[in-house]
Amino acid sequence: MVKSPFSSCLKIERAKRRLDPHFIFGHSKPSLFFNSGFQPSFDPDLCVACETCLDRCPASALAMGDDDVPEVDLDRCFGCAVCATGCPEEAITMEEKPDYPEPPKDMQALLSAMAAGQSSKSA
Ligand code: SF4
Ligand code: SF4
Repeated sequence: MVKSPFSSCLKIERAKRRLDPHFIFGHSKPSLFFNSGFQPSFDPDLCVACETCLDRCPASALAMGDDDVPEVDLDRCFGCAVCATGCPEEAITMEEKPDYPEPPKDMQALLSAMAAGQSSKSA
């Protein structure tokens, strides 16, 4: 059977679609796909519960806790520090994640991680 010259283009197009930020952040665990290895830490004495960090987080990884200090969902947080740079009270510091999954090293590993995220979302 003759292989269509367009089949590899289609595979690339499909892979590009899967790398779309909307697709990745639609998963339950965006931190599986890329991860700086850092996470935010909140100082309850400095935080004034303005929720700026919640609004700025591109991964929707933050929610206000019962004590009016943000809590982070580490499955969603990929350690970009956008929350920390926007905090008006400088109440957020970035700390190394003690146990974070190694980011995928190649396309195959990335697609496997995405498939795992997809199945855990539907579980
Ligand atoms: S931006 Fe800073 S002060 Fe505002 S809720 Fe977040 S941690 Fe608290
Ligand atoms: S480090 Fe980035 S992804 Fe994590 S909570 Fe802050 S803004 Fe969201």
